Amino acid sequence: MSDLRELYQQVILDHQKKPRNFRVLEGADRHAEGFNPLCGDKISLFVKMNNGVIQEVGFQGAGCAISTASASMMTERVKGKTPAEAESLFKTFQDLVTSDPHQKVDAPELGKLEVFAGVREFPVRVKCATLPWHTLRAALKGDEKPVTTE
Ligand code: ZN
Repeated sequence: MSDLRELYQQVILDHQKKPRNFRVLEGADRHAEGFNPLCGDKISLFVKMNNGVIQEVGFQGAGCAISTASASMMTERVKGKTPAEAESLFKTFQDLVTSDPHQKVDAPELGKLEVFAGVREFPVRVKCATLPWHTLRAALKGDEKPVTTE
């Protein structure tokens, strides 16, 4: 478990310092806003689709290290996926972060996102980690109403 914790901290820190795809996407055809009142995380997500596939994702916002890192890693991970594939990843991710901290991590399809298993030890942070995914889901569905984790 301690290896995972160390990796978790390294990855979170790296993505918080240098968030990937941290920008407004010009010509985005999907957009959604997300808010986690529990922590104060805010995210604005932009998606550009091409032939039914997520071509580009960008985000803006202000949040804690975990929500920023989660958004950053999510944008890298969902590029090239269909909305259905992104939804399935979200489910796997959510199952992981809400599972028992003592349970072995076994979700190879998550790739690097597996480090978020570290968040299981901090249950109040689970919503920080899932906020970007809820926001992505809303963007893909074309929901105009801001998403809140509450
Ligand atoms: Zn947060």
